[in-house]
Amino acid sequence: MTFRCKDLGLACEFEEKAVDKDELMKRIEGHVQTAHQMDPGLPEVQERLRKAMR
Ligand SMILES: [Zn+2]
Repeated sequence: MTFRCKDLGLACEFEEKAVDKDELMKRIEGHVQTAHQMDPGLPEVQERLRKAMR
């Protein structure tokens, strides 16, 4: 699974890969929180992040 901030429409080059969505979520949580002030604890944010995973 791959996550790119660009897929969220963000002007950011961050990209992360992991074996599955749960692992990927753990890896990107810190980034979206500090770089984009998004709270990964919120269901709507979780949903948005998961939908962007490819
Ligand atoms: Zn980013």
